[in-house]
Amino acid sequence: MAKIRYEELLTSDFKKIRNRKPIIFLPLGTLEWHSDHLPLGMDAMAAHEICQRLAKKIGGMVIPPLYFGTDRAHRVKGKIFYGMDRRAGYHLPGSIYYLKPNLLYRLLLNIFSQIERQDFKLLVVITGHYGRKQIEILEKAAKNYKGKIKIYAANMRQLFKKTLSQDQTGHAGTGETSLFLALRPELVHMEKLKKDLSKPIEILRDDPRGRASKKLGKKILKSIMNKVSTDILKITKKFPCST
Ligand SMILES: [Zn+2]
Repeated sequence: MAKIRYEELLTSDFKKIRNRKPIIFLPLGTLEWHSDHLPLGMDAMAAHEICQRLAKKIGGMVIPPLYFGTDRAHRVKGKIFYGMDRRAGYHLPGSIYYLKPNLLYRLLLNIFSQIERQDFKLLVVITGHYGRKQIEILEKAAKNYKGKIKIYAANMRQLFKKTLSQDQTGHAGTGETSLFLALRPELVHMEKLKKDLSKPIEILRDDPRGRASKKLGKKILKSIMNKVSTDILKITKKFPCST
């Protein structure tokens, strides 16, 4: 099978893929508490899996995911809480991903310019972490980047909308659990969930038990693949790519 993971490529592979399809994928995510049943790196791993499937379908190569991202930060009684911490009221175990929004913004612009130097024409960035601040910074960086490379940015919040209702898109809820059951079932442990998810926040209004399934995950995945690949093909029509 053709290699598509950037870190595994030889220079000759790199040149061959880039000359055939100058598309590169960058998955974004976190290292973050995802309730008791999902792995800490799920956001980045889900985005990575999706990017690899897209590269196999359309062409291009995939950069290793960035496991650090951003969120809203809140100061409560002298303590800083990031993202989901605020609702929990304590530092959630496992969450270490937080970068200041402006740092992530500058980091993304820096990465974009490095990629542009290698003559790619399209950069597809998919963030598996869909905190509002993360989405805002990614969109701002994609919009403000002043280079020639085209940047297509997508986030899981928007991608989930096609197949899920609002109450299924909660953190570590039905959507994320189903998607990961379809992508990496060996890493999902439903049996680890506490009986009572209401205290203190645990699943956040979206208990995946009896709602999440591999079948739903496959449906979500199919819809994401269709949406992103259709969008990419529209963009790549405008620049020459040999197939
Ligand atoms: Zn997540």
